[in-house]
Amino acid sequence: MESIISYFETIPSSHRSIILASGITFFWLLEYAVPLFRFKYKKFRHGALNIFFTLTTIVVNFALAFILLKTSDWTVTHNFGILNWVGGMPLWGKILLGVLLLDFIGAWFAHWVQHKIKVLWGFHLIHHTDHEVDTTTANRHHPGESVIRFLFTCFGVLVVGAPIGIVMLYQSLSVVLSQFNHANITLPKKLDDLLSYVIVSPDMHKVHHHYVLPYTDSNYGNIFSIWDRLLGTFTKLPNEDIVYGVDTHPNAADNANIGKLLGIPFKKKRNRAVDAPTLKAEQ
Ligand SMILES: [Zn+2]
Repeated sequence: MESIISYFETIPSSHRSIILASGITFFWLLEYAVPLFRFKYKKFRHGALNIFFTLTTIVVNFALAFILLKTSDWTVTHNFGILNWVGGMPLWGKILLGVLLLDFIGAWFAHWVQHKIKVLWGFHLIHHTDHEVDTTTANRHHPGESVIRFLFTCFGVLVVGAPIGIVMLYQSLSVVLSQFNHANITLPKKLDDLLSYVIVSPDMHKVHHHYVLPYTDSNYGNIFSIWDRLLGTFTKLPNEDIVYGVDTHPNAADNANIGKLLGIPFKKKRNRAVDAPTLKAEQ
């Protein structure tokens, strides 16, 4: 356990890049073997756009990394934050609690806030404009959203009092599990259901990418599904009823145009249909 943490304490940037690239490659290949939907799309062209946004995410996080490191070091030196306040816990317990709480504050809460505050939604909706959700969608984030998420991560590290080893372990798990739950793959239904009691499963996350409310405003989880289950935001929708995208931005050509996507947060906000007729018919 200690050796895992000491590895992540000093994990080189190259290893982090390898984790990200291997994850994409693995799930990309798996999408050919067990696809959930048979998209009629140019997989490489679609992937290239999302990789562009993945690269901007990496640049933002790399440029700001020193702030994350300083925040974590500060909590350790000043004995600040939950992990420093709970005594008598074995290392594995601290790691588990640290990863759980970082996932809640830095991801679930950050994601929920971005759906609830209009200005922030303007940035986050770029992630939702993908009409073919696959493993490359995981990091399709507007650079503005990358900054917002980074700030929430720093806030999470401060509250949790997470040493940098736990932060890096959390981020590495987060990258791979986000690629997993966005991947256009289908698992045996029972397995998917079983996984969704602990972690966000592929079927669970796809509901979040359905184009209309209230489904878009559900299943916010990143690694763990327990936050949605505890906080009442867990929903189900059969795969065959899922339509990817956002009701306010239905133009697929615009949603594949980097310039247009980058400009969305600065345009007038469009109102979402709260009660979509298709959903009313279902209920
Ligand atoms: Zn979202």
